Amino acid sequence: MSGKYIFVTGGVCSGLGKGVAASSIGSLLEHHGLKVRMIKIDPYINVDPGTMSPYQHGEVYVTDDGAETDLDLGNYSRFTSSPLERINSVTTGQVYQEVIRKEREGRFLGRTVQVIPHITDEIKSRLFKVGDQPDVDVTIVEIGGTVGDIESIPFLETARQFIHDLGKKRVLFVHLTLIPTVSDGEMKTKPTQHSVASLRQIGIQPDIVLCRAPMPISEELRRKISLFTNVEDEAVISAYDVQSTVYEIPLIFAEQKLNEIILEKLGLPDTPCDLSDWKRVVEAYNTAERTVRIGLVGKYTELLDSYKSIYEALYHGGIDNRCQIELVKVDSDQLPESGISGLEIILKDLDGILIPGGFGQRGIEGMVQAAGYARRNRLPCFGICLGMQVMVIEFARSILGWEDANSTEFAPDSKHGVISLLEDQIDVKAYGGTMRLGASPSRVVPGTHLHRIYHSDEISERHRHRYEVSNSFREELAKAGLIFSAFTPDNALVEASEWPDHPWGIGVQYHPEFKSKPVSPHPLFSTFVAACVRNESA
Ligand code: GLN
Repeated sequence: MSGKYIFVTGGVCSGLGKGVAASSIGSLLEHHGLKVRMIKIDPYINVDPGTMSPYQHGEVYVTDDGAETDLDLGNYSRFTSSPLERINSVTTGQVYQEVIRKEREGRFLGRTVQVIPHITDEIKSRLFKVGDQPDVDVTIVEIGGTVGDIESIPFLETARQFIHDLGKKRVLFVHLTLIPTVSDGEMKTKPTQHSVASLRQIGIQPDIVLCRAPMPISEELRRKISLFTNVEDEAVISAYDVQSTVYEIPLIFAEQKLNEIILEKLGLPDTPCDLSDWKRVVEAYNTAERTVRIGLVGKYTELLDSYKSIYEALYHGGIDNRCQIELVKVDSDQLPESGISGLEIILKDLDGILIPGGFGQRGIEGMVQAAGYARRNRLPCFGICLGMQVMVIEFARSILGWEDANSTEFAPDSKHGVISLLEDQIDVKAYGGTMRLGASPSRVVPGTHLHRIYHSDEISERHRHRYEVSNSFREELAKAGLIFSAFTPDNALVEASEWPDHPWGIGVQYHPEFKSKPVSPHPLFSTFVAACVRNESA
């Protein structure tokens, strides 16, 4: 096997955009015709982020094969066409769980089990499982956290061993660092020098440094960084803050020939590279003709990353409709539980609302109120997972008059548990990995709004939930006018619902946001944004 590996590390502090940088590199290499794979390493001890609060971790990104992973896999999916599955996400928890399992099985009998070589070997085997597949040219491994964190040491040590095992022509190190400015605007390189020094201490010399800074770095600064870090002049790349959209980053990197430098260093042929798709995305973003205001009615709204894929998918819908999206975060906890006038003040200037997924009771009543407002006022409304469940609850309360209608997640004893657990799930007690997870097919009902959106009888989308529309109430809800527009192929579960006689009121039990890309926006998001545009111009 001769697959190449690029390790992407981060220095100085977190939140510099390592995921977007790694994804942009992946995209550039794909534009050279290479088969790229992406891996995210998360040094925390959790086996996966599935049980973490969005406040801790941001969104949980779900893969087709049902893995709950870091939100950077969402970035990889938006920028590249690397297949993303369980094996593309590695955590300390998974690695130790496996090594300890083997130890209990007696696979290391007689030996002391240690970080080096047992943990590092397990990490290596996980990376090779992805990167040494026959059709893979380059595997990009993003090491989460910041160089210097205790938790990342075994992963950095593994990366160091890669050079030892595979040689310089197969392994490349890219280090993303921060160039802060001080009060008079002067850019400072000292933190970069320190973070590269700590990488060197563990035996890693970066080949490329990406310098995150508010502005492009000067030639003089570039030379200074090159001198101190021992990285060639042209391999010091300016990763300056973009004015428009993150989708400009592949173009910014390509302007500085980052792709050519990588190809040269890895001994790969320099083939032509046509970036017109990214140029189109950026141009569409920059030449948007109008702005629509979309309210995101959720309970984790203060943290931008909690609904990352939804924000991005809305932006993709905006690109498709030549409009900018102004996201208005509406904390559902703050919405009045009753009192139409209060609701109106908050929601009246919106062109549409989106109710995203979530767990637990907090904020639910506010979401139900918002759904009712949108239904009555013919405001476009998109419910995703919990959002769909809320739309069904609201319909049952308002149209069927079942005041206690609820999900049994929030009101276990409600007589009208229109959203409930499946019989065989009621006794499941564990939390980690026990939901309905990953991709499954659905049958779309011809003649419905959903069918007109997908133009297809069968779709496949990803799930991450425990509760379902209760089959005991399906018939009565349908009789009262609620349209169920998609089902599992065996008809056992409802996958989507829509309001009758409404411009765009659709709830889906699955998560379409995970499959939207800027170059191919998801049709649900495109048509939702289009409905918001119509609302704006009405
Ligand atoms: N809490 C709901 C359930 O488990 C919805 C989950 C979600 O929105 N992802 O079914």
